[in-house]
Parts: sequence; structure tokens; C-alpha cells
Amino acid sequence: MAETSQAPGPAGDRTDATDRVVDARKVSKRYARTWALRAVDLQVGRGELVSLLGPNGSGKSTLLRVLTAVTRPTYGQVKIFGQQPRNGLGVRERLGVLPHQSYLYGELTAVENLRFAATMYGMRAVRDDLVEALSHVGLAHVADAQARTFSSGMRKRLALARATLHDPELVLLDEPYGALDVEGIGWVDRFIGELREASKTLVIATHEIGRALALCDRAVSLRGGRVVFDGPTSDYEGAIAGATEAVGLEAGS
Ligand code: ADP
Ligand code: MG
Repeated sequence: MAETSQAPGPAGDRTDATDRVVDARKVSKRYARTWALRAVDLQVGRGELVSLLGPNGSGKSTLLRVLTAVTRPTYGQVKIFGQQPRNGLGVRERLGVLPHQSYLYGELTAVENLRFAATMYGMRAVRDDLVEALSHVGLAHVADAQARTFSSGMRKRLALARATLHDPELVLLDEPYGALDVEGIGWVDRFIGELREASKTLVIATHEIGRALALCDRAVSLRGGRVVFDGPTSDYEGAIAGATEAVGLEAGS
């Protein structure tokens, strides 16, 4: 993999085209009568950590699914590493995804789930590597237990280990804190911290605003499928307070 930049770090508005890991332009997605996304623009530079915020139903998962080519946008264009995500050569290998649903194999053990994923990525991983990957999410002690015996939080952590097994440059996480207890949240925080240290580009969709703001440099907030805020996390709370009030009035809540 050719690395063009020595110093990743937050790229912000000065991101040039070669450093643009995610480039979504005027992306809209319609499901029957629902517009899940409305003309969403999102550019993410190499090494940026972006939290994708918004209440349930605001379009976060849909945006991640469009970015990972699980679903096609109704309108608009998406490029990942400068290529169409569906057809781009080598895009899949550079992308790690924690989908909304974990899609684990319940009858397989934790290690076997990872081995299966490694095979899919064309990796040759020995058991020690897989157990090491589990240790990063606090699951090494249950390496040989079947995934179906895991709590939903443990499944989430196993899915997280699987998402990053192939050392991807861009990691997209959909609700990494969902279904986690306090201990699980600690593991995920540390895990995300490790990805950050490794200068990965990260997009984290979550409705856990406090955690996201503590972890990320930049917040992008969706309401009703539209981007209502895109800027430094330090500016987020003040900016969004007004918008939330307006939405509250509109929704009667
Ligand atoms: P979030 O992840 O922010 O909770 P989603 O992207 O899941 O939001 O949903 C955005 C909107 O799109 C919601 O109104 C939701 O009901 C709708 N939606 C999402 N997926 C589908 C689908 N497969 N079919 C129909 N409507 C969908
Ligand atoms: Mg969602």
C-alpha cells in the first residue's frame, strides 16, 4: 500500500484531494417515501477522527452503509480513497467496518470467527495473532467459547476486533457503544484510542454524544437526513443547542 503522507493528523478544510479518504457529494437516499439522507456532503481527510452524531432515525447508519457500498445512494457520488467503493480495486482491504448488526457466527468460537474473517481478507493469521486481536477488546479469556454464549456487549467487542483485524486505514464504526456495560465502554474507549494512536482515519456513528465529543476532533451532526453541523467538537455544543430546540419544537417533543 503506497503511503503518500508521512504525517497524518487532522486534515480539516485544508485536505487536498489526494488525502481525501472519504468524499461524499450531495448524497441522498430514499427508502420508499422516506428520505434517509438529503444532499449530504462529507469529506474526511487522512488521520481525522469524526463523530457522526444525531438522534435515532437521523440517517447515520444509512450514511455508513452508503460509504461502504452496502447500499447505493439514490443521488450523489461517493469516493473512498478516490475510488468508487463498490468497484475500487483494493478499497475493501483498506476499509474496516463495524456494521449496525454484528453478523457473527454463533456456532463458531471467537477465534474461529476471526479466522473466518481473516480468510475472507486473504490474510494468513496464526492463532496467536487472533488471540492477540481478542486481547485488545478484552476477550482473550473467551477465545475458545462459542460466540452464541456471549453477551451482546461481548459480541459487539468481537465484531470490533474483526473489523480491524486486517489493519485497515479507514475504520467506520456504527454504534460501537451500543449494548455495552461500563467495562465494555472502557474497552471500546481504549480500542478507539489505539486506533487513534495508530493514525487511522475513523468515522464513529453514535448517539452517545458525550463519548464521541471526548474522543473525536470533529463532529458531523445529522437531523432528518441533513447535515446540520460539521466542525470542531469544541464548537459543537453551542452550535447544536439552537438546532435541537428548533427540532424539538418541530417534532413536538
Ligand atoms: P440512524 O442510524 O441515525 O438511527 P438510519 O440511517 O438507520 O438512522 O435511518 C434513517 C431513516 O431511514 C429512518 O427513517 C429509517 O426508518 C429509514 N430506514 C433506514 N433503513 C431503512 C430500510 N432498509 N428500509 C426503509 N427505511 C429505512
Ligand atoms: Mg443507526
